[in-house]
Amino acid sequence: MAAITRFSKPSVISHVRRCLYSSSAVAAESNQHAPSPFGDYTITRRNPSERNVQWVFLGSPGVGKGTYASRLSNLLGVPHIATGDLVREELASSGPIAKQLTEIVNQGKLVSDEIIIRLLSKRLKAGEAKGESGFILDGFPRTINQAEILKGVTDIDLVVNLRLPESVLIEKCLGRRICGQCGKNFNVASINVKGQNGCPGISMAPLLPPSSCMSKLVTRSDDTEEVVKERLRIYNDKSQPLEDYYRNQGKLMEFNLPGGIPESWPKLLEALNLDEFDERQSVAA
Ligand SMILES: [Zn+2]
Repeated sequence: MAAITRFSKPSVISHVRRCLYSSSAVAAESNQHAPSPFGDYTITRRNPSERNVQWVFLGSPGVGKGTYASRLSNLLGVPHIATGDLVREELASSGPIAKQLTEIVNQGKLVSDEIIIRLLSKRLKAGEAKGESGFILDGFPRTINQAEILKGVTDIDLVVNLRLPESVLIEKCLGRRICGQCGKNFNVASINVKGQNGCPGISMAPLLPPSSCMSKLVTRSDDTEEVVKERLRIYNDKSQPLEDYYRNQGKLMEFNLPGGIPESWPKLLEALNLDEFDERQSVAA
């Protein structure tokens, strides 16, 4: 609840709320006439002033999206919902969707938007029953179609798009190492991009292994420059229309990461108007 008060400052959020009221009213109306494709998992739409944040995190592979989404969800007291985890959890369960999923995965097919949104609705419904308020989504939506389906399920207040220059993403991915013995992840890339043309520089310290792991480091076979570039190209092709979609609704917040977590975290909180909130939390802790 404290977070909500904080968000009511004149900021991107208040603009976001104005957009939200009109879009949710339309969605609520259309829901009355069409049977819900989400079965029993219809989620209650709550007024933004009566709930916590409902945010989406976007970002290229390797940008560290999961890390920031997870930290923010801890700070704000909302669940961090990664759709990859939902699929894995469902596969490990024995529910009706699990059977369908197992077949799809065994046939090497892609999991459909419909199944993902059913899993997500189920997760949100379960959260609602437990008294959860708000969420941060990671890994969904990936396409405009998914965003449109999501709009039929729940309201999104803000979409945070984490960005790093492509050269940095490539360097970061190429620096990834895994210890062949203990399985821990490290990164040997030491990134130091000088600021130019008004763009600030970017520096990221490597995450070096202890000496016991040093001689056992291996590189993932798909962390080659060619593969990483292709991964980024595919991501950009898909995400650009999605970014435009949310930008046109006034919901997209672009955030250029200035470095690793120590440099980026305080700046991200500042951009989200959460810097004072974080200080209060630290004092209370
Ligand atoms: Zn090790």
